[in-house]
Amino acid sequence: MEEISLHYAPRETGWIEIICGCMFSGKTEELIRRLRRAEIARQNLAIFKPRIDKRYSDDHIVSHSDERLKSIVVDSAAEILSLSAGAQVVGIDEGQFFGPELVDVCESLATAGKRVIVAGLDQDFRGKPFEPIPQLLAVAEYITKTLAICVVCGNPADRTQRKTHQGERVLVGAKDIYEARCRKCFVPPPD
Ligand code: ZN
Repeated sequence: MEEISLHYAPRETGWIEIICGCMFSGKTEELIRRLRRAEIARQNLAIFKPRIDKRYSDDHIVSHSDERLKSIVVDSAAEILSLSAGAQVVGIDEGQFFGPELVDVCESLATAGKRVIVAGLDQDFRGKPFEPIPQLLAVAEYITKTLAICVVCGNPADRTQRKTHQGERVLVGAKDIYEARCRKCFVPPPD
């Protein structure tokens, strides 16, 4: 989907954009692309990621293709609110790790006139909706679903297949633990 053109961007109000999809679908890459363009437009940015994600680099958001952008690591969604005071554009990566309070935080930021862009997984490793992304989709003005490529058959892929049998919902890793699969090739874990 097309990024909203600045010509048609809402005026005198903020809004919420969500970039969601499975792992390896380019969510962070797309987030970085939008934030870079806002930076070129000389807008003030505040970029956040949750402390849980220690992959690759501590204070940057980093895509699988190694694009990176300086960010602030926070422990809770509430911190985003207090650290965004001077920002016109707020970027949040790995939104699925912030829990339900992220919804109210994004709503407050957008209502205060800020453009809020959240990237996150919309399904967990069982193929179930991953809160709070579904709730954010309901209140967002703009939604982009990014698809990966199924490693089994080459179809567009929207599921994250876990290659181990560990049962916890949050298990941080990349290609060693996860791969992208389509609906046909995805095998849900046993209950
Ligand atoms: Zn497939």
